[in-house]
Amino acid sequence: MVGRLRRRLISFRISEQYLMKTLLPTSTAGSLPKPVWLAEPETLWSPWKLQGDDLIEAKHDALRLSLDDQRRAGIDIVSDGEQTRQHFVTTFIEHLDGVDFENRKTMRIRNRYDASVPVVVGAVSRPKSVFVEDAKFLRAQTDQPIKWALPGPMTMIDTLYDDHYGSREKLAWEFAKILNEEARELEAAGVDIVQFDEVNDCAVATVEKAAEGLKCETAVHICYGYGIKANTDWKKTLGSEWRQYEEVFPKLRSSSIDIISLEAQNSRVPMDLIELIRGKKVMVGAIDVATDTIETPEQVADTLRKALQFVDADKLYPATNCGMAPLSRHVANGKLRALSAGADIVREELSRDLYYGDERSEP
Ligand SMILES: [Zn+2]
Repeated sequence: MVGRLRRRLISFRISEQYLMKTLLPTSTAGSLPKPVWLAEPETLWSPWKLQGDDLIEAKHDALRLSLDDQRRAGIDIVSDGEQTRQHFVTTFIEHLDGVDFENRKTMRIRNRYDASVPVVVGAVSRPKSVFVEDAKFLRAQTDQPIKWALPGPMTMIDTLYDDHYGSREKLAWEFAKILNEEARELEAAGVDIVQFDEVNDCAVATVEKAAEGLKCETAVHICYGYGIKANTDWKKTLGSEWRQYEEVFPKLRSSSIDIISLEAQNSRVPMDLIELIRGKKVMVGAIDVATDTIETPEQVADTLRKALQFVDADKLYPATNCGMAPLSRHVANGKLRALSAGADIVREELSRDLYYGDERSEP
């Protein structure tokens, strides 16, 4: 066992083609809290506190602070913390043609709650890039690998009323094409990993379409949502074991997507479901975003050790369960540090196995 792991680690170390030089590279699922001077904290869809050029400058300042928080915490793959977006789905859709945000319609969201949503009134298109300037700005601030999150096609559909296509599949496909345009420009701007945030019953073919032709790494993040009340209430109805991943994982395993991001901390997702994506890189959520309690490094390490039963060490990427936008900055920073420290513990254990491992323990 140890011998096998050692060989795996050695092959990891000498391989030039890996994006990361670090074993167990840490990252967040995406969003981080915004500073109080930019938007009301601990709320989704919080209105901006500034306007015009002041707002643009403030968003960039917030992005730099968010990057600094990640860097100080020791996060290896950094992001923009989604500081320039009001909401991870809506902000992208706002930049598209064909969607009416004025005359909304009420729709049941994922069978959980009613919401007044924008309406698709014509052919959807992307007149110009949405996040590419922000990605260039982030790229200019750091040499670390950067990950950029986009909504997945099905996630976008779930927040809209369709009055034009009359087919969810058709609309999803159109969004996938638009996402692909944006993703290619993000890649050209120097993004190392493009991530699509999707629902757990997503159509894998549409995600593949969104990622088509990309030479950078691609990831799909599938989780059980932010720690907001509508989600935590819904989770209570799911029973003792959450097996929703069981449906989609075999399809993702045979897909072109490189990395699967999932939640595992304080989750009722059985860890052995990860076996269904054996061979893929896995971003394992080792931080619960639905509680203010900051994990201890040992709790994080424990989750990572469990995941290592099903993921090869060179394919395990410690992460957060989901975005941390709804948390306070103090709590989110504590969780970032815990993630980093927990990954350090397991790295240390793996390198001890590497240098002092005993071939006699080989089965
Ligand atoms: Zn999530």
